[in-house]
Amino acid sequence: MTPDNSPVSPILPGAWLGMVGGGQLGRMFCFAAQAMGYRVAVLDPDATSPAGTVADRHICAAYDDEAALTELARLCAAISTEFENVPAASLDTLAKSTFVSPAGRCVAVAQDRIAEKRFIAAAGVPVAPHVVIESSQALAAIGDEALAAVLPGILKTARMGYDGKGQIRVTNAEEVREAHASLGGVPCVLEKRLPLKFEVSALIARGVSGASVVYPLAQNTHRNGVLSHTIVPAPDASAVLVQQAQQAALQIAARLGYVGVLCVEFFILEDGSLVANEMAPRPHNSGHYTTDACATSQFEQQVRAMTGMPLGDTRQHSPAVMLNILGDVWFPAGAGGAKAPKGAAPITPPWDQVAAMPSARLHLYGKEEARAGRKMGHVNFTAPTLDEARAAARDCARLLHIVTS
Ligand code: ATP
Ligand code: MG
Repeated sequence: MTPDNSPVSPILPGAWLGMVGGGQLGRMFCFAAQAMGYRVAVLDPDATSPAGTVADRHICAAYDDEAALTELARLCAAISTEFENVPAASLDTLAKSTFVSPAGRCVAVAQDRIAEKRFIAAAGVPVAPHVVIESSQALAAIGDEALAAVLPGILKTARMGYDGKGQIRVTNAEEVREAHASLGGVPCVLEKRLPLKFEVSALIARGVSGASVVYPLAQNTHRNGVLSHTIVPAPDASAVLVQQAQQAALQIAARLGYVGVLCVEFFILEDGSLVANEMAPRPHNSGHYTTDACATSQFEQQVRAMTGMPLGDTRQHSPAVMLNILGDVWFPAGAGGAKAPKGAAPITPPWDQVAAMPSARLHLYGKEEARAGRKMGHVNFTAPTLDEARAAARDCARLLHIVTS
């Protein structure tokens, strides 16, 4: 063992791997790890979590439960996470006796938009113009002129935001103060609303040795702040842009001394320039296509990175589209973006018709309750050409009453 417990020789199949977090990303991690012959223990407080129910062992406890952390560290040869809001302190506790990747300090940067923007900018990658608002008092001291420089903007909580939660659009200083108060006066970032041409994400993996692999660039479409679908390779990105985004992600990972799978989201502006939005210290929703379209999925890559195994081939063997399935699909009365009538009963979507599409691979996360906006699953479409994959995704979206534009 090295000072940070990183494996000197690879941790081979048969060993136990730990996963902090029991969501869908943890579930797909379990599938990949188990397929390779590892056993997986999941720590998650929810008795019916998507990953806990498929793990070899589910430690059902809070992320900061001392006894649970001790048990996980004792059982597992290496531990990773699927959820950046896991307390970084818990990862640090685990790291005292077991190899934890990504390290708590890397997750801590991604947990906090203020630290994240500072870090990304220091790595030489542009971020959106923004003003840091640490508290209501601090906001009162920021002049309207300084605020005006980033307006119209989006006020985002520094911590615990995902899928567009904890974000409010604002156009003037008064609205900033109101919005900040309505968010409880917590630390926030006021970010300038940028003219987006499109959005992409760069997925990479970095091993214990510092060797890295890069996946093709993915192009993402969001609806209401939530990822709707991903197209790979990114149809609107030039070769130069692909190179820039991938290089930026590698730079960030190297500067962090990162081990694991890292995804960096970028905005591409009307003038063609690239701005980093945020990073995820784990496999990412926009990387789900890798399961069916690449030689090595992002989840297998996570297993390889944390065990010190050689990183896998990232080659994409089929053009791909990933369509997210949100809970709205269970309430087709709310199709077209309209809200389903209150108290409407959920229907089971026509999965058999999805399965009948030759290019579609259905992935459902085993969540018991479908709620509007909740990520329930996704469908990957692979085909000989990107046009065919896109056409199939459009047909499927129509079938499931998903609005994608
Ligand atoms: P997720 O967890 O889905 O990544 P999030 O809650 O972390 O979402 P962001 O990634 O900050 O939120 O924003 C979600 C989406 O909102 C972005 O992908 C983009 O479409 C839009 N958006 C966010 N910030 C800006 C901005 N400064 N200018 C224009 N659009 C923005
Ligand atoms: Mg995002």
